[in-house]
Amino acid sequence: MRLKTPIVKIRGIKVGGKNPIVIQSMTNTDTADAERTAKQCIELYEAGSELVRITVDSEDSAAAVKEIRRILDSKGYKDLPLIGDFHFIGHELLAKYTECARTLDKYRINPGNVGFGKSRDKNFEEFIKLAIKYDKPVRIGGNWGSLDQELLTKLMDKSPDEDIQIKTLVKSTLDSAKLAEKLGLKHDKIILSVKVSDVQELIKAHELLVKKMGKKPYALHLGLTEAGSGLQGVVSSSAALAILLQKGIGDTIRISLTPQNDEPRIREVQACKHLLQSLDLRRFQPKIVSCPGCGRTNNILFQKIVKEVNRYVDKNNLEPINIAIMGCIVNGPGESRHADIALHLPGKKEAGIVSVYVKGKFYKTLQGESITKEFIQIIEEKF
Ligand code: SF4
Repeated sequence: MRLKTPIVKIRGIKVGGKNPIVIQSMTNTDTADAERTAKQCIELYEAGSELVRITVDSEDSAAAVKEIRRILDSKGYKDLPLIGDFHFIGHELLAKYTECARTLDKYRINPGNVGFGKSRDKNFEEFIKLAIKYDKPVRIGGNWGSLDQELLTKLMDKSPDEDIQIKTLVKSTLDSAKLAEKLGLKHDKIILSVKVSDVQELIKAHELLVKKMGKKPYALHLGLTEAGSGLQGVVSSSAALAILLQKGIGDTIRISLTPQNDEPRIREVQACKHLLQSLDLRRFQPKIVSCPGCGRTNNILFQKIVKEVNRYVDKNNLEPINIAIMGCIVNGPGESRHADIALHLPGKKEAGIVSVYVKGKFYKTLQGESITKEFIQIIEEKF
């Protein structure tokens, strides 16, 4: 069952409660370059990122926020929620650049990166007071790569154990959230995250966080930090996030990927969509069930059909139906009966003929050069 978290409103998006799990991502452009940053915000948003975060790490980037918003609005993206990611000097930037403070829809602060000793609490307080002044929600996002070292040392002295980093991360994040509430930030203006780069540790951190939050949980942002790149990054993030989401933990997710070989930034958004769709938590586009193929089928024809139907689904805005494409009669008829529309090949001896099913019932056979084209026509006619 989903954790009963409060609903945090970020521009038009609701995070938490029973709302769908929200997808988010972050730009990797220099925020001071307003044109390029706005362009990437739009790419991410168009790909399905419902919240877009930009780093605000300098005076130039804080000054550019207003222009980024202007470009977004002028291009018809008035609904796109823009989030500012702050470290070290966030309180100073928000105080000095009031348009930046006013324009952003949410602020993110890392409690491990706001200073040391007495200035740590002071800087954090200033940051939270500005969020209250401008009526903005805040993500208090802890990361084990930037732990509060004083708290870590204190806890280590008290009871050193192998989970000390996780305990420090959770405590630091929760203490910061409580302090923010004490300062006047409402419970439904806070989102928490506790990010680590190891799958098992991430699960452990969230189990502890949920336990410590008790009966008044905060809305939660999930993500495996520094997940890596390519397949490894996608698989590690999916493994961790799937386990947590299945336990009802998490209201918004990001899959952080290091772009590989000119890989588009939107890959991380696509990964989030596939993950949520695989878990049946959201539906964005048709789900294609296809077998891996083996020696029983004509793999050339089978793989060609799968590739072309996938391309068609990716390029067209279709109802979220189930499509099955199967290599032979071993599992083909059974899988076809579960799908909205399906085809299966008979086996390699009759390679050029496929059976099509609609709503679980045999519909017709197709053969020849235009199998995929005719199959797509049937999809268009029926759905
Ligand atoms: S459905 Fe047929 S072709 Fe596909 S993997 Fe199974 S046995 Fe092989």
